[in-house]
Parts: sequence; C-alpha cells; structure tokens
Amino acid sequence: MTGLKNLYIDGRWSGSVAGLPPRQVLNPADGSVLATVCVASADDVDLAVRSARTGFDNGQWSGMPVRERGNKLREIAQILADNRVNLSHIESLDAGKTLKEAGMDVDDAVSAFRYFANIADLDAGRMVDAGDPNIISRIGYLPVGVCALISAWNFPLQTLTWKLAPALAAGNTVVIKPSEVTPLSTLKLLELLEQADLPAGTVNLVLGPGAQVGTALVQHPGIDLISFTGGSEAGQKVMEAAAKGIKKVTLELGGKNPNIIFADTDFHTAVDNALTAAFVHSGQVCSAGSRLIVQDQIYDRFVRELARRADSIRLGHGQDPETECGPLATAEHRENVERHITQAIADGARLVAGGVRPGEEHLQSGNFLRPTVFADCDRSMAIVREEVFGPVVTVERFSTEEEAVFLANDTEYGLAGAVWSNDASQVHRVAEQLRHGTVWINDYHPYLPQAEWGGFGKSGLGRENGLQGLNEYRETRHIYQNIAPAPSRWFQD
Ligand code: NAD
Repeated sequence: MTGLKNLYIDGRWSGSVAGLPPRQVLNPADGSVLATVCVASADDVDLAVRSARTGFDNGQWSGMPVRERGNKLREIAQILADNRVNLSHIESLDAGKTLKEAGMDVDDAVSAFRYFANIADLDAGRMVDAGDPNIISRIGYLPVGVCALISAWNFPLQTLTWKLAPALAAGNTVVIKPSEVTPLSTLKLLELLEQADLPAGTVNLVLGPGAQVGTALVQHPGIDLISFTGGSEAGQKVMEAAAKGIKKVTLELGGKNPNIIFADTDFHTAVDNALTAAFVHSGQVCSAGSRLIVQDQIYDRFVRELARRADSIRLGHGQDPETECGPLATAEHRENVERHITQAIADGARLVAGGVRPGEEHLQSGNFLRPTVFADCDRSMAIVREEVFGPVVTVERFSTEEEAVFLANDTEYGLAGAVWSNDASQVHRVAEQLRHGTVWINDYHPYLPQAEWGGFGKSGLGRENGLQGLNEYRETRHIYQNIAPAPSRWFQD
C-alpha cells in the first residue's frame, strides 16, 4: 500500500491492493507535479468490476424507478454546475486548456446530465401488432449491465460524462478508467458524486495506464459493455477484447476532418473560423478542422491570411487570461507531432506558419508548439491522411464542387466536416454528400447533447448523445404474450 486512496470502489476511496508505485500527474504548461495518484492492479480492477456487478444485481440503481434515476441525474447536473469554477480550474491545469474552454467543458457535462435525465423515461418501449387479437407483443428496454467507461486526455470531463450520464440514465453500473495523463477532473467528479448519494457500487473508479489497467478492465469477464474514447490503435485492441468476450462496444476514435471553403463565402469569417476549427485546444480535438480544402479563386489570399493570423496566436498557461492556445498534453506527444511536421516538409508540403517550438523564455518548460500551417498539400501526403492531433492544419486546393466533395470524403475517417459558402443550395448539396458523422454548415465545432455524435469508418462505432446515445446502453427485449393459450397440435398425441 502506498497510503494514497484514489480508487473508488464499492462506495469508498481505497488504495491499490498490490501497492503499485504511484504515478505523477504533470502540468503540461510547465512540467510541475500537480498530483500523485495510485495505479490500480488487476486485482483492483477485479474488485471494481465485482462491486459494479453486485451494485447492478442488487437492483438499488438498476431497479430504481426511471423517474427517480432522472432526478438523481438532475441533482448531479446541479452539483457540477455549482462547482463550475473549481472543476474548470482543475481541467485547465491538468489538460492545459484555457479556462474559457475548460468552463465550456463543464457546461457540456452539465448539459449531458440534464439531457439524459429528461429523456430517460420518455420511451418505455412500444406495442407491436402481432396480427392476432390474442397476442400482446411489446418491446421494452433493460440496462445492459456493468459498463467499462474509458475516456481520453483531451476532454477528460466531457468525454467521460457523455458516457456516464446515459449509462446511469439507462440503469447500468459502471467502472470508469480516465486517461492516466489527465485523471484529476475525474477524481473531482467522483468526489462530487458522493453528494448525490448514489447506491454503493453504482460508480467505481480505477486509475492507471491503458496498456495495463485498461486492458485488465476490457478483458474482465464481468464487463458487459465497453464505451471507449481514444485513438484508433487502442480502439482496435479494445474491440478485439470485446470480440473475445462478445461484449457490446462503442468506439469514439480519431478524425481527419475536412473544412471546405468556397470562394463566395465571407472571407474573414471563414479564415477566423478556420483558425478556431484547427487550433482550439492546440488542435488536440478529435473533430479539429485539420484539413482545409479551399477554392482556387481565394486560395493564395486565404493561405496568406491564415498564416498571418496563426502567427499571432498567443501561447501560454491555461490560467492566463491572455492565453489563446495552451501546451500539448505531454512531451512525448509534442515529439510525435514534430515527427509529423518533419515528414510533411520531406513530402513537399510548404510550411507557411509555425512548425517550431516558441522562443519565449516562460514557455520553455512546457510542451508548447507554434500553430502550424502547411500549404500546397495533396492527399498523397501523410500529413493530409493521418490524424496529427496537434496544432497543424493543411490546405488543399479545389476548383469544382464535385472535387471538393471527392476530397472531403477521401479519408479513412469520417467523424466531422464543414462547408462554407453563401450559396444555400450549394452548402445543402455538399452537406448531403459528406460521409461524416457531423457536418457543420457555415460554422464549426458546436455540439448538442440532443444530437448524435460519432464517426463513420475508422472514426468509430456507435454514437454518443441523442436518443442513440441512450440506446447504446440499453438492451431491447421483446415480450410476446398469448392470452388464449391452446394446444399447438404440432405433434400428434
Ligand atoms: P489513447 O487511445 O491513447 O487513450 C484513450 C484511453 O484508452 C486512455 O484512458 C488510455 O489509458 C486507454 N487505453 C489505451 N490503451 C488501451 C488498451 N489497450 N485497452 C484499454 N484501454 C486503453 O487516446 P488519447 O491519446 O487519450 O486520446 C486521443 C485520441 O482520442 C485521438 O485519436 C482523438 O481523436 C480521440 N478522441 C476521439 C473523440 C471522439 O469523440 N471521437 C473524442 C476525444 C478524443
């Protein structure tokens, strides 16, 4: 035992039974240690899953009337809203994002709990016409069981609550594993959940690296459903584990998201939003508009203005109100992004902004990287095809509408995309042809809890938010009742 008690199992804070060495959580803006937390062993994972199983089977949560569960979710939403300042401060420190962004993440978390509280009892199922007046046939829903919720480091609170709120609304019990890089807002969330007084075993928390703790969790036979947000590589392993155990699985993976700019759009609005699309949270956003596709007539001017604006983005500590972009999550991640930049230059992409670490003295101990723009890109280049997950945007050129659609759909991913034009018919036509889970027209980045979120192709499986986001956490059951039973006379007496 290390003395640390950061795991939450069966309604109590506990330490790792194996006493594994703890892990330091670093501030990405300056490398300082924000916290030291314990790492779960396979035995801890087992205890957490057993706790969730007991919590599910005893029916205290799963058997609670749906309306009462909804009330609990509303209570949680209010607790989160009341703690907005504290939660966003923690998220900003841990994930390196600005306080403004972190505050929006808390708002998203609150909205998710409110939305799923409101829809939990909207749909109790339906009657089915069996074509026989003596048959009562009805469809109803049950919680799936014990869910493993695995979240990513870029939106720790938001990616988790998009899972937790529907999972709880549907009556499941859960074991949460946040990213080992940014576990602090999840720890705070668990602390706040205690105020809602959920039955013991409803929500459990394990901490530690994905390769060990995540693997132990997804392979555990007591898990019925895995909801995962993260990269494609880990997503593939999660799916393999799900396949071995025939577990339900949803995957929210990466993206390489096209942002199409037609020449007739308002130029400065499009440039301004292209920056937001690409560089919010230093591009560490699954739906970042990292792939600009710009029409011929405005291409050169657009590239010049984009580069000028990118060069003036202010980097800094997330808590500094002057900061527009924070650091990358880890030193290793920054090196990985830099490898993508080196490769892009070798492949012939023209670097017109950034590509380097900032020179300012006060940024030297953080994982900062200047917002980077590559022009003259084409789809043969890795920088156009692969998710970089950093402050890097590529610009390709197109002339016709057909070409724009072709380029935008020419990706293994399919998470999100946008189209900008003043021609209402054109944006509608293009949006209808884009094979991406979310398509924005003359906007970028807004999410709605009532609208399904998820990707085509390698961007994942299943959806979060919206009605489908709830249904992922429910089993459908058909009950067929014969009210006038009689011998079937299938076999002779
Ligand atoms: P990651 O894949 O490294 O880790 C994600 C989570 O999975 C972490 O909690 C990690 O510990 C865990 N993990 C890693 N390997 C595992 C394994 N073998 N088994 C079980 N769990 C494992 O991803 P990341 O670096 O934290 O996040 C960045 C990625 O997430 C990007 O690709 C981004 O596009 C994606 N993402 C997608 C969405 C979406 O909604 N589609 C949202 C946010 C992030």
